[in-house]
Amino acid sequence: MGWARPSPVSPAPAVWETGATVFKLDTPTALLDSFRPKDRRLVDLPSDLKFPLAVKDYLAWTHPGGGRVFIVFATPGGVPTGIAFDSNAGSAAPAMCSWCHTSSVGTGVGLLVATLNNNKRVGVMVCSDLSCREKLEEQANRAGASVRPAMEKLMARVGLFASDALKIDLSGAGR
Ligand SMILES: [Zn+2]
Repeated sequence: MGWARPSPVSPAPAVWETGATVFKLDTPTALLDSFRPKDRRLVDLPSDLKFPLAVKDYLAWTHPGGGRVFIVFATPGGVPTGIAFDSNAGSAAPAMCSWCHTSSVGTGVGLLVATLNNNKRVGVMVCSDLSCREKLEEQANRAGASVRPAMEKLMARVGLFASDALKIDLSGAGR
């Protein structure tokens, strides 16, 4: 596929090709600061990260001891945002991931729970290790298609969960 000349009526191809949101975390502190203060004490950073760290779409990892899953993501125009999840609730029923919409047999999809405030916690049924990106990439590879449209929907759903269910301002205001 060649490069089309940019024209006033259609976006330049580069806009489509680089649809991913990429953000940079300079230090472990910057990574930790993407979480809400109440979540920070729960966060255990992976030991194998090298800083500065460039993240495409999102970074997810599980606590080595189990029981917790973390995600750091950014939506277009937003700042890096972290969520700490409790993964102990589990789920025995086969389910579809509400974020990437893939179904997993067995224990692939489970209930992840995050704190809204002192009185309320909010759960979401998703791939229990947040491997949504890998699943979408596999699907796209099998279909010979670009993963970007599905990734954009995935990141929009993650952002909506953070802003609607957890009332996190994705612009970074009030942190
Ligand atoms: Zn998923």
